[in-house]
Amino acid sequence: MTDTHCLFCKIIAGQIPSRKVFEDEHLYAFHDIAPWAPVHFLVVPKLHIPSMAQLTPEHAPLMGHLMTLLPQLALAQGCRPYPEGGYRIVTNTGVEGGQEVHHMHWHVMGGPRPWLRG
Ligand code: 5GP
Ligand code: ZN
Repeated sequence: MTDTHCLFCKIIAGQIPSRKVFEDEHLYAFHDIAPWAPVHFLVVPKLHIPSMAQLTPEHAPLMGHLMTLLPQLALAQGCRPYPEGGYRIVTNTGVEGGQEVHHMHWHVMGGPRPWLRG
């Protein structure tokens, strides 16, 4: 399912260019256009799910896949290993949660501090 008005659906479809980090059958990852940290990329399901508020038990396999992949992608993108290194994983949900793009996504931020934000 895609939403023709959704920015991230357009990025996944290649209608808007992005700097790809990773792609498989279910997920797409790309560099954030306005990074807060030396490493800052976004991971999105290819399925248009607006936010975590729409998750149901049938999404559990997708979420498990996503959560176990994020640490691998973080290291591959240059985050240093735990515990001296590490990374911050953020998901904003809804307007009061700071969500601007309503296609569920995970921010992965890391690299040497200080960061611009976060
Ligand atoms: P949110 O505030 O919804 O959690 O995060 C949306 C993120 O998408 C922001 O960090 C913003 O910089 C990023 N973003 C917005 N538009 C684009 C775009 O066209 N391309 C890319 N790569 N990132 C975008
Ligand atoms: Zn979408």
